[in-house]
Amino acid sequence: MSHEPSLQKNNDALDQVTLERDACSDFLSIMVHQLRTPLTANKWALGMMANSDFGEKSDEEKKILDRIIENNNQAIKLLAEVSQAHHVDAWTMQLDIQPANMNECIDHVVESFIPEAGSKNISITYNRNDDLPIIKVDKNRMCIALQNLVENAIKYNKHGGKVTIETKVHNDHVTIIIHDTGIGIPHDAQRKLFSKFFRAPNALHHSQGTGLGLYVVKQIVEAHHGSVWVESQESFGSMFFISLPLAK
Ligand code: ADP
Repeated sequence: MSHEPSLQKNNDALDQVTLERDACSDFLSIMVHQLRTPLTANKWALGMMANSDFGEKSDEEKKILDRIIENNNQAIKLLAEVSQAHHVDAWTMQLDIQPANMNECIDHVVESFIPEAGSKNISITYNRNDDLPIIKVDKNRMCIALQNLVENAIKYNKHGGKVTIETKVHNDHVTIIIHDTGIGIPHDAQRKLFSKFFRAPNALHHSQGTGLGLYVVKQIVEAHHGSVWVESQESFGSMFFISLPLAK
């Protein structure tokens, strides 16, 4: 008995799924691009207005302008996160694996967040290990994962809090730990934390978010055969761990 007709049917169905995914992928990429262009132009124009390039403003006008700038930035960030989440979904993620020194990535991420941490009087420290072994990763992707974790450690922290980053080397793994003294995560919420769009109840009134950042982290880390997890106590802070295999 021949199975060819049903094999053909399966292949047709797979082709159809691939076509639909490609169409969806194209649609999303176009939409993100088309929305980002005017929002970025707005950001530039609003920046000029805020810097008094168009004359002095009343306090009321400044307040309204600040709100527009914040909403515009929020929309840009949302697009960036949707785009990130889309690009790490299994069928579109292509890794560029190279030997990398994670110290460079962590240094870069820490440096880029110093102004934001400073604005909330939060200290950010990296206990650098100069002997950190080289690992094989897609450095750009891994920097995005770290960036998302450090951003959260600042965002969900308290005024005057601390963010500390350290690395540990076990037999065959490097672990990066991001420690914060922020609002923490309720026990029940911890197991759902890395799913798409999930936000813990105590975060909802604390700050705005999409619930996509940790999903992106998990996809990136797991694509490297690593793991990510959290230890946290509500009101006292959190520790996020990324563990990656050492290059053989
Ligand atoms: P977002 O921050 O946009 O909501 P994330 O996916 O980055 O999305 O995080 C998901 C949720 O995990 C957050 O809404 C928050 O409830 C919780 N969370 C993440 N990082 C921290 C942290 N460092 N401290 C407390 N809660 C956190």
